[in-house]
Amino acid sequence: MAQRPLILLSNDDGVEASGLHALREALMPVGDVVTVAPATEQSAGSHSLTLHRPLRHRALGEHLHSVDGTPADCIYVALYRDAFLPRWPDLVVSGINRGYNLGTDVYYSGTVAAAREAAMRGIPSIAFSCAHKDSLAAAAAVSARIAARTLAQPGHEEGERGSLLNVNYPPRAPFAGVRATRLGKRVYFDEVEVREDPRGREYYWIGGPKAHHEPMDGSDTEAVDEGFVSVTPLQLDTTDAGGLGLAAWVAAVGLCDDDEAGETSDEGGES
Ligand code: MN
Repeated sequence: MAQRPLILLSNDDGVEASGLHALREALMPVGDVVTVAPATEQSAGSHSLTLHRPLRHRALGEHLHSVDGTPADCIYVALYRDAFLPRWPDLVVSGINRGYNLGTDVYYSGTVAAAREAAMRGIPSIAFSCAHKDSLAAAAAVSARIAARTLAQPGHEEGERGSLLNVNYPPRAPFAGVRATRLGKRVYFDEVEVREDPRGREYYWIGGPKAHHEPMDGSDTEAVDEGFVSVTPLQLDTTDAGGLGLAAWVAAVGLCDDDEAGETSDEGGES
């Protein structure tokens, strides 16, 4: 690479989170790092965009910014408001999140969403999550290695494709190694805590206290349970190829009883 890589960094724990700053420091030798992170915590905010109020920006230091929106907002603003980045980034990195993003967590995760927002635009991206603060320093060091390795992936300089990697660190360092994995099954003890406010109305807290991992060979959950760093590739197209037969069978319902093929003709407007 002719010039130093440009890395855009964000997270979902907010601009003050220790995981963000550990990762920022660790990435400095890998490339030029520009940080654009949410002003406040946005964990479990998934991939939401803020479309119904203005977004405010604060410059907090050199190449360190906050935006008072979601992780996806931060990536969007950084990419399309010229003032943030000197050029299109070579890599987008999110984290290091406080806590796992394993299995179906990736649907709720703001950390993964920031990376996904970049991957949707063809930029290689990585989400990093660490289960315990005691292994944060080790996680940051390995994250820098993974970021450098991702930048060196075959075809990267030709801009062939965006890739979205989801990396999780086990609770204890030193880690046993690094494994390529698939999403596992993380099962939460789902519950609704019901309480009453001072005016006698019910209110709820959702989200159970703990999760357990179902055994699955080659999964991210298995890897971290065994002390390994997991590297899971995520795809943007969530079409269920195995469900296309069911979709065709359901589509055959048509719009009305005469429409057995399930497709409307150009003339058949009224129904
Ligand atoms: Mn978080």
